[in-house]
Amino acid sequence: VSMVQRERSFTRSTCCYCGVGCGVVIEAEHDADGNARIIGIEGDKEHPANFGRLCSKGRNLPQTARSPHGRVLMPELRHQRHEARHRVDWAVALDTVADRLADIVQQHGPDAVAFYISGQLLTEDYYVFNKLAKGLLGTNNIDTNSRLCMSSAVTGYKLALGADGPPTCYEDLELAKTVLFAGSNAAYAHPVLFRRLEEARERDPDVRWIVIDPRRTDTAAVADLHLAIQPGTDVALFNGMLHHLVWEGLVDSEYIKAHTEGFAGLKQLLRDYTPRMAAELCGIAVADLVQAAEWFGRSPAALSLYCMGLNQSAHGTDKNLALIHLHLATGQIGRPGAGPFSLTGQPNAMGGREVGGMATMLAAHREIGDAQHRAEVEALWSLPAHSLSAKPGLAAVELFEAVRSGKVKAVWIACTNPVHSMPDIGRVREALQRAQYVVVQEAFADTDTVPYADVLLPAASWGEKEGTVTNSERRISRVRRAVPAPGQAQPDWWIANEVARRIEARLASPGAAPLFDFDGTAAIFDEHRRLTVGRDLDIGGLDYAVLESQGPQQWPFPAGAQGGQPRRYEDGVFATANGRARFHVTPYKPVAEPVSARYPLRLLTGRLRDQWHGMSRTGRVPGLFAHSPEPGLRMNPGDAARRGLRAGELVRIASKRGELVLPLELSDEVGSGTVFAAMHWSGQHLSSGGINEVSQPAFDARSLQPELKHAAVRVEKAAFG
Ligand code: SF4
Repeated sequence: VSMVQRERSFTRSTCCYCGVGCGVVIEAEHDADGNARIIGIEGDKEHPANFGRLCSKGRNLPQTARSPHGRVLMPELRHQRHEARHRVDWAVALDTVADRLADIVQQHGPDAVAFYISGQLLTEDYYVFNKLAKGLLGTNNIDTNSRLCMSSAVTGYKLALGADGPPTCYEDLELAKTVLFAGSNAAYAHPVLFRRLEEARERDPDVRWIVIDPRRTDTAAVADLHLAIQPGTDVALFNGMLHHLVWEGLVDSEYIKAHTEGFAGLKQLLRDYTPRMAAELCGIAVADLVQAAEWFGRSPAALSLYCMGLNQSAHGTDKNLALIHLHLATGQIGRPGAGPFSLTGQPNAMGGREVGGMATMLAAHREIGDAQHRAEVEALWSLPAHSLSAKPGLAAVELFEAVRSGKVKAVWIACTNPVHSMPDIGRVREALQRAQYVVVQEAFADTDTVPYADVLLPAASWGEKEGTVTNSERRISRVRRAVPAPGQAQPDWWIANEVARRIEARLASPGAAPLFDFDGTAAIFDEHRRLTVGRDLDIGGLDYAVLESQGPQQWPFPAGAQGGQPRRYEDGVFATANGRARFHVTPYKPVAEPVSARYPLRLLTGRLRDQWHGMSRTGRVPGLFAHSPEPGLRMNPGDAARRGLRAGELVRIASKRGELVLPLELSDEVGSGTVFAAMHWSGQHLSSGGINEVSQPAFDARSLQPELKHAAVRVEKAAFG
């Protein structure tokens, strides 16, 4: 028996799950034959997001990364839909994809192709995909699952403050005296930030927490005040709170006068939102609404943390605006411990926006509809004038509808599983069945989307690739490779870059400068940072060498800066044309699908503590099922008794769009008339798809984000046979 020499390596990187963006140190073991595996992980004590802490998901990352089982190891393709895919080498796969896409563009025009990518891609991956779609093919049809996550926060920031991105930083968690959680179960969704908040409250007994959530989540359970509002009534609540602040003289008139505009119009609207009227609409006690307003308005530092409960709504932009209004009216912004702070769901939803990797934006927070912005990007990419499309691309729901209707012929899906995560997944399945050509770029072989792939491209995963991500506080961190990817899997940027080179050879005019001569992620990051110079997110002074020597940094970080900027708008000058923040008129509008006699229950969706999205990774770790072993529908015991339903029995949940069967769980966490199901389980685990069989595709007109959080449903005993 020969002794195999094994060596250990320790690689600094970033957790691949939520937007907290925790720094990690990956321990890997390497043998003399070049084989390597990840064997351990620790929180990076020097990373300013987590200072060494990790949550259950992060701690278990090595177990998800250890085995090639379940991974896509080689490119696969099929020539006909009814055929099984067969393995091919990279050259064949790349040539085939490039040829098919180029043919479709030549026959049907650039908008016949669409890309649907992911907030889990790294900034460099995003950059290449975005340049391929917009710069080379000439279509803005590139959207991402971040559309389902943070789009309403983006429109809220842009409309109110003039630019995307939170004005706050994680240090504010420890400096806030009043913390308002709105539609955020941070205890589960952002556990390490939640731990920082808990520690701050343990140190300072005067800190108060208000939680706005229709459910009694684990975050709500430990709040000083829980406002269990009726689903979708957030705008009425915020308007009612602001009414109280205005009429009790608790607004900061000097701040409003000096730094904002539009308050008079909003004030006119607020007349109708008396605390009594608003509380009635929200289904809460007037005294509780007033208490929340008082704690917010009289606080030396009020911080709002908000997430999917506000964003995943057909009125998500209004919800964001109405919350930001509370901060602007009281001057609770641009100073330590105060401000509106959207908590990013995915690890790199922010980085994707920075490179403009969505259907509604251009690089570095530029606008598609702005001719000057298009000209700037054309110049920076050395494209001919007027070559960028001025037509906004198709956002997530619209994109799959266009595939379904045949308007879009080819769709390339990377690092995401829309047959699980999109609303009304029956229509997404139909779309992919009807598509002429489906490319799926994936690390995991068993997602619900993989069976639809005409070409399956093996992608490297966490621990196997290089790049950067930006977390919720605008901090850019390095992601590093600790081990080689299994089989022939390649980094996402490389795959997009190789296809782009081949398409370029076919489509680009002779003599045109090559757009895709990247030799690695550092070169991509360098090009990205050049596009940001002079913009609100200027990172002209930041490159891989600075990230190496100074560690993770927040943007903006312009050339010559010594460090990133923790807070924005400290001088009261906002990113709008005239420097003033803007109030908007935000009347309350009900949910897109009200309950009815046929569908009398309100379905809420959300996360579990130890699972992530469709469980491609977390589903591989038995220990992560200890907290919630199986899927279920949670219902209030009174509602169950009235229906003759018992805990554990199987119930059918039906909406206008579809149905699924789940075991019933009884819980006081949800009020009467409301039920809850977790988003994680999918067609991989259930006889039907997951909860998105019944969710609905209505979306916010400005952010284009769908109302994944709420649908009207019927629940009845499941009958079999
Ligand atoms: Fe990873 Fe988020 Fe947990 Fe940090 S809090 S370890 S980023 S999942």
